[in-house]
Amino acid sequence: MSSTWAIALHGGAGAIAARAYQREEQHMAALLDRGAAMLARGESALDVVVAMAAELEACGLHVAGKGAAPNAAGVIELDASLMDGATRRAGAVAALRGFVSPVRVARGVMERTPHVLLVGDGAAQFAAKEGFERVEDPASYYVPASSGLPNSGTIGAVALDTNGRLAAATSTGGLSGKLPGRVGDTPIIGAGCWADERAAVSCTGIGEYFMRVNAAADVSARIAYARQSLEQAAAAVIEDVRRLGGAGGLIAVDARGNVTAPFSSQGMKRGLANSAGLREVKTFQ
Ligand code: ASP
Repeated sequence: MSSTWAIALHGGAGAIAARAYQREEQHMAALLDRGAAMLARGESALDVVVAMAAELEACGLHVAGKGAAPNAAGVIELDASLMDGATRRAGAVAALRGFVSPVRVARGVMERTPHVLLVGDGAAQFAAKEGFERVEDPASYYVPASSGLPNSGTIGAVALDTNGRLAAATSTGGLSGKLPGRVGDTPIIGAGCWADERAAVSCTGIGEYFMRVNAAADVSARIAYARQSLEQAAAAVIEDVRRLGGAGGLIAVDARGNVTAPFSSQGMKRGLANSAGLREVKTFQ
């Protein structure tokens, strides 16, 4: 066991220029400190990213879980995924309706089925059978539906634990007004979420572009094949997305405890910390 750990959280790309984000920043700062403390006392990267992502889903401050926006038919369909770098096990759900924590259901898919991705009714049947918490009354539970407040941001968490294991989790309501059944990069392992022995990555932005550059896995591939640093690899992936006409950002940590969070979108909400003394929570607008 070493004393090196690292963590990064995001509340999504596309923060609106004129809006105040103090509540989001305060919440993320407290959550980041909680995650850092969990890692410092030896908890696993996987447990930490799931705890962080589940809280970011539950807080209603981002477009994931409670804060998710409806699709073009007025229905809330959620996508989430996670990956454990040490074992390369992964789980995901897409177009899931009616459950409080899609990321916890994604963990259930990873741990309790032989599959990686369940979608739609099948995902909901699995979640119901396994006893995951349901949203009893969507009209009062989801924040945009009950408040009319515009929100922005997928959520994600990546971590390196003191046993050298990396993990990543990503969860979203997707692009607001998306077509029913549309699935973005978030639940696609390799596109919106990736963890292996080199890096853990969680993406946010216009998912169609992140899928077309296989964004999250490409960060690790660039480290392996092109011998790029984490920072170079992550920046190159965001540049690839930009060149295709897309926008967004990502958070990433590597096995040495480096942390990076490039973005090409108008803004991005994120928090970064590591055992070398980094602690930064900021909303770029
Ligand atoms: N990447 C997400 C999607 O396309 C959206 C976002 O990150 O805001 O579903």
